[in-house]
Amino acid sequence: MSELRCSGLTKAYGSREVISNLDLTVPDGSIVAIVGPSGSGKTTLLRSILGLVAIDRGTIHLGDSELTHGRTRLVPPHRRAIGYVPQEGALFPHHTVLENVGFGLPRKERKDVTRIDHILSIVGLNANYRNRRPHELSGGEQRRVALARALAPSPSCVVLDEPFTGLDASLRQTTRTAVAAALRATHATAVFVTHDQQEAFSLGDYIGILRNGTISQFGQPEDVYREPADPETAQFLGETNILTGTITKNHANTALGKLPILGHLADGPAHILIRPEQLHLHGSARPDDAGMQVHGRILSITFFGAHSLISLAVNGIYPKQILAHHQGHVPWDAGEDVFISLTGRAACFPAPARTPADPEGAIGRTPQQGG
Ligand code: ADP
Ligand code: MG
Repeated sequence: MSELRCSGLTKAYGSREVISNLDLTVPDGSIVAIVGPSGSGKTTLLRSILGLVAIDRGTIHLGDSELTHGRTRLVPPHRRAIGYVPQEGALFPHHTVLENVGFGLPRKERKDVTRIDHILSIVGLNANYRNRRPHELSGGEQRRVALARALAPSPSCVVLDEPFTGLDASLRQTTRTAVAAALRATHATAVFVTHDQQEAFSLGDYIGILRNGTISQFGQPEDVYREPADPETAQFLGETNILTGTITKNHANTALGKLPILGHLADGPAHILIRPEQLHLHGSARPDDAGMQVHGRILSITFFGAHSLISLAVNGIYPKQILAHHQGHVPWDAGEDVFISLTGRAACFPAPARTPADPEGAIGRTPQQGG
């Protein structure tokens, strides 16, 4: 049993509280991704779990043992049996892969080549890597060695700090797959932090959103993406159209059309979230269920390979630009008019009534995000 639990975790640097009354439970053997923008306290959270940062309040438990109680570290960092993959991997540059991986083992096991080869194989590296030094490895291989080093002592829990940041796109994908497979193979309870939403979605069994020093939402990736706790979380997790509209009988009525809503919301004005992939564009009129034949003018097309992101202006609606995804080849150019239909369900939030000062009943734009 190696469930990891943080309760009421609070940590300030000087007068600034970075972690505020944070609760987090990582189920035994699962991989949890904590996603938050740069500076949101991700590294501080991991280092508190490791016992490298002294917290001000709260408790940290791993399985049945209490590791930290308020300012008291009941178990010192080297006794916690938590593997650590620091940001950038942080391998010892002058040591071989064998020495780096052996570092976490008891002294007499450090040169146990069979054991180290086995650990390397878990992260998808063969024995030929044993005598290389970090500068003779690709970025992705370095990350795998860093994970192998963390896994070597068979920890019941592993924490990883931005394990894929700085890798190029193709290395990211293969490294991510290898790391996920290695974590599954060892059944370790794992927490990794990232500022990258895609990474969190693709690797986490659960994801937690770190905002304002606390976990603002926790759940399975698809649930959190589809039913964000608030509009800010929705925007943080990906492109979102937030329309003003009204709810009647569990349907959202917007200038783009009508959609059933997720969950329940009382009738009245609402902010209605529609993801770009819920908008479909057509060259000719194709009424949706509500009989709508809305058309918009294409403002710009951004090509992403498998899909393109299309920005549209629709007469008389707020916000002024609507984002839509289009799979594959886009048969239109900027300046052309297309018809728009909607699919799926909409996440909705009650909106304040419109006022002269805020005629749209608008909410803030996407908050600034950093890497
Ligand atoms: P993240 O990993 O999400 O980027 P960090 O946990 O590194 O965030 O830092 C959170 C905030 O705490 C940042 O504003 C950072 O500048 C501040 N901070 C981190 N470590 C220290 C420290 N040792 N002393 C003072 N401030 C710190
Ligand atoms: Mg960090």
